[in-house]
Amino acid sequence: MSYPDSWYVATADGIQDRPALEEDLTADVCVIGGGFTGLSAALNLAELGKSVVLLEAERIGFGASGRNGGLVGSGQRIEVMDAEKQFGVERSRQLWNFAELAKDEIRNRVEKHGIDCDLQKGQFVGVHKRSYVGWAQELSDVLTERYDYPFCNAVDREEVPDYVATRNYFEGFYDPEALTLHPLNYTLGLARAAEKAGVKVFENSRVTTYSRTDPAIVKTATGQVKASFIVLACNGYLGNLEPRSAGKIMPINNFMIATEPLGAERARELISGRFGVHDTRFVVNYYRISDDHRLLFGGGENYRPGFPKDIGKFVRPYMLKIFPQLKDVGVDYAWGGTLSVTVNRLPHLGRLEPNVYFGQGYSGHGISTANFAGKVIAEAVAGVSGRFDVFAGLPTHTFPGGTMLRYPGMVLGMLYYTLKDRL
Ligand SMILES: Cc1cc2nc3c(=O)[nH]c(=O)nc-3n(C[C@H](O)[C@H](O)[C@H](O)COP(=O)(O)OP(=O)(O)OC[C@H]3O[C@@H](n4cnc5c(N)ncnc54)[C@H](O)[C@@H]3O)c2cc1C
Repeated sequence: MSYPDSWYVATADGIQDRPALEEDLTADVCVIGGGFTGLSAALNLAELGKSVVLLEAERIGFGASGRNGGLVGSGQRIEVMDAEKQFGVERSRQLWNFAELAKDEIRNRVEKHGIDCDLQKGQFVGVHKRSYVGWAQELSDVLTERYDYPFCNAVDREEVPDYVATRNYFEGFYDPEALTLHPLNYTLGLARAAEKAGVKVFENSRVTTYSRTDPAIVKTATGQVKASFIVLACNGYLGNLEPRSAGKIMPINNFMIATEPLGAERARELISGRFGVHDTRFVVNYYRISDDHRLLFGGGENYRPGFPKDIGKFVRPYMLKIFPQLKDVGVDYAWGGTLSVTVNRLPHLGRLEPNVYFGQGYSGHGISTANFAGKVIAEAVAGVSGRFDVFAGLPTHTFPGGTMLRYPGMVLGMLYYTLKDRL
């Protein structure tokens, strides 16, 4: 299968065809999935001296890693005040620090491998409910006082237009140290770096089964890999390959558009810099200006297999709610992708067998988290499991109804929160 028709694909740097697996290979590790999790695991494993084969069912970056909003937020998906309530300050600080290291991992990879992915700084959060006013100052204070992160500021309602030209937000929060990037170009850059480090990468090589043996035999339709370890990195695209981890995640579809180019001036009037923006809605809107002055806008999701017929028409109302002034602007690209969420919105890392590792469920906060998950899985495979154990020790829940019946329950739950967004 080829890539979806997205702005990312249209502006991709270095898409290249890679062969399908058509032989029997032996490796220390077989990584399944060619997104952030899989590529980061493979690259880090190769740097730790392991021989690695990576099998991707479609193309490198075909999944969420090549389709997402490109907003690399600080911290975890749940904010620190929530994390403190759930786990206490010490564990919350540890998770925050890991997320800081995750941003470092991205910055370092970009620099070390010369990945041209338009890495930019900054993130603005728009507060969409009057009752949330005060949250931005509280978060900024907590981060300064308990997380050694004195960089953020609350933004009063009158100052919101200095950042984003919308009347939709009651206040804002600005984090100058968050990042944005072109996610497909970052993914393609990681793949090139992994290959340079010795990883054998195969595309159009869907894994159909693997044995629960040591070594494991990983099979595709046309070949197999005998490996001492497996890393499962399929996230929202896992399907039925591994029911033991599938029940812990819910695949959901999220959608994006790229407008026609707005021109430098109109783009700057809309968002005053190259920083990313998202809001506090449960079904989050996220957006930023591209280097060719388009608005890249993500909004709307669904909870069933399949995308809306006309994704542009589906996403446009979300954009016009924030920016009614764009009603004359056309949409050049529209696409969707599948990510996975966990019940508690924390990443889900674990071991299914002594030699089978997995990372999934980054709940919409996967650019930094999935890259870091790949790194800590690599460390664990190489015998240093301290950081992996912290993630693997986080509480996990199975979706009610397991893989068969999780959709109806999820739909009801999501509808409830969507309604709350509107009230
Ligand atoms: C529209 C959208 C917007 C998003 N926006 C953001 C954002 O702004 N910020 C953020 O932090 N996160 C965002 N996310 C989430 C983020 O993209 C994901 O969390 C992250 O990309 C997950 O990476 P991954 O490598 O685990 O999974 P993926 O990138 O989905 O990769 C999984 C890969 O596994 C492959 N695969 C599946 N089954 C098999 C098999 N049997 N054999 C071989 N290969 C297989 C798939 O083809 C796929 O390429 C967004 C996601 C979407 C969809």
